[in-house]
Amino acid sequence: MKTAILGAGLTGITLARLLHEKGDEVTVLEREPGYGGLCRSMMESGFTFDIGGSHIIFSRDAQVLDFMRDVLGRNSKQNKRNTKIFYKGLLIKYPFENGLDQLPKDDLYFCISEFIKTLIAVEKLELSPPSNFCEWIHYTFGKGIADLYMIPYNEKIWKYPVEKMSMHWVDGRIPRPPVEDVIRSAIGIETEGYTHQSVFTYPLKGGIEAMVREIAEPIEESIKTGFTASSVRIEDRNIIISDGSTEIPAERLISTIPLQELLQCLDGVPKNVKRACRELKYNSIACIFLGIKGSVPDISWMYVPEKELGLFNRISFPSNYSPHVAPSGHSSILVEITYREGDKASAMQDRDIIDHVVDALSNMKIIKTKDDVVYSAVMRQKYAYVIYDLEYQKNIAIVKEYCAGIGISLVGRFAEFEYLNMDGCIRNAMNFAESL
Ligand SMILES: Cc1cc2nc3c(=O)[nH]c(=O)nc-3n(C[C@H](O)[C@H](O)[C@H](O)COP(=O)(O)OP(=O)(O)OC[C@H]3O[C@@H](n4cnc5c(N)ncnc54)[C@H](O)[C@@H]3O)c2cc1C
Repeated sequence: MKTAILGAGLTGITLARLLHEKGDEVTVLEREPGYGGLCRSMMESGFTFDIGGSHIIFSRDAQVLDFMRDVLGRNSKQNKRNTKIFYKGLLIKYPFENGLDQLPKDDLYFCISEFIKTLIAVEKLELSPPSNFCEWIHYTFGKGIADLYMIPYNEKIWKYPVEKMSMHWVDGRIPRPPVEDVIRSAIGIETEGYTHQSVFTYPLKGGIEAMVREIAEPIEESIKTGFTASSVRIEDRNIIISDGSTEIPAERLISTIPLQELLQCLDGVPKNVKRACRELKYNSIACIFLGIKGSVPDISWMYVPEKELGLFNRISFPSNYSPHVAPSGHSSILVEITYREGDKASAMQDRDIIDHVVDALSNMKIIKTKDDVVYSAVMRQKYAYVIYDLEYQKNIAIVKEYCAGIGISLVGRFAEFEYLNMDGCIRNAMNFAESL
C-alpha cells in the first residue's frame, strides 16, 4: 500500500515507522526544512532548546512510555520533578493544592475553608453540577484555590475566558486531588500530586528532538522536507498531493497537519464545514531561550499565575534536565508566552519580548544580573494549544465527519484537534496502525 502522511511531527514520524514495519510504502511530506514539528530542538552557542516549548517524557500509558524510553536507550536521564508555583514571591509546591501549607496564613485559610464549604455544598446538592470550565474549577477546588491560582493561571495560558471554555477535557489533564491530600497539605504533611509525572525522562543529548530522530531512524529516507502540501485531489481511489510543483500519488492519505491547513488544500469544502473549522480555536506560543552564565534555581519548571509579573505563564530550566544542554559553567531558561492573533504578545517584536522577560526574571530574582544572560533567542509556533471553547464539540464533529467522508484519516494533536501530549500522539498512531 502506498501511503502518504502529511506532516513529519512526532505523529507523522511514528505512523511512518509503524506502517513501514507493516510493509507499507510510506512517504512523509513536511513543510519545514527539518522534521519533528513541535518536538524539534535547536542547538546554538552550546545550548540546546526545545523550540515548541519545554518538553518532558512521561505517561500513564506503560506501553507508550516504554516505547519512548526504549528508543532513547542510553541517551536518557530520569529526573525527579521539582516544580513550583511562583506565588506572591514564594515558591509553592506544585500542584498548588499539595503546597497549601506554604501559603500565607490568610490565603491558606481562604483555600481550605472554601474547599470544605464546597464539599459540603456538593454533598447537600446545594451546588449545581458545573457546565463550563470556570464552574468546574470552583466545583472541584472551591473559591479559594480557584481565585488564587486556578483561574489566573488558566486565563494566562489559554488566553480565553474560562467561563467560555468547555470542561469535557479536564479528566486526567488537570490534577484532581483526593480530599485527604488537600487536608494533609494544609496542615503541612507532605503529599504528592499528579504522580505519573513526578519522575520524568529527558534525552541526555539533543533535546526532545533526539527521541523523534530515533523513531525516524528506519524511515528517514521516506521523509520529504520542504514540501508544503497545498492541494489534495481525490480521484476515484487515487489521491494526488501537490505542493504546486511536485505531485505525489498515494493510495492512502493520513493527515497529521492542523485541520486549518488541511482544509486549505481541499477543493469543494462545503461552507458549513469551512465555518466550523474557522470556529475551532487555538493559541500560539513564543518561546524565549536564555543562556545563563552560572547557575539557575534547582527547579524543573515553574508556573507563574500573576499577571503583574509578566506575560509568561511558565518558566523551565532545561539545564536541570540534562547537563549536556548548556556549556560548562552555564545553565539555561526557557520561558513560554502563549498568545492569540491580535493580542499584545502577538504584536511584540522579539527584542522587546526578550527585554520584557529578562527584566521580569531579574525582578523575580531568578537571574542574578542581566549581564549573566549570554544568549537569547525567540521562536514562535502558530499552533500550540487547542482551546476547548463551548462550541468545540459541535464544530469538531462537523469537520471530522467531512474528512472521514472523503477518506482522509486524521491523527495527531492538531489533525484531531485534541489536547494530545506526546504519549497521546504515539498512542493514537499505534491504534491507527493496528486498526488497518
Ligand atoms: C508548549 C508545549 C509544551 C509541551 N510539552 C509537552 C511535554 O512536556 N510532554 C509531552 O508529552 N507533550 C508536550 N507537548 C505536546 C507535544 O508537543 C505534541 O503532542 C506533539 O509534538 C504533537 O505532534 P504532532 O506530530 O501531532 O503535531 P506537530 O508537531 O504540530 O506536527 C505537524 C507537522 O505538520 C507540518 N505541516 C503543517 N502544515 C503542513 C503542510 N501544509 N504541508 C506539510 N507539512 C505541514 C508542520 O510543519 C509540523 O511538522 C507540548 C506542547 C506544547 C505546545
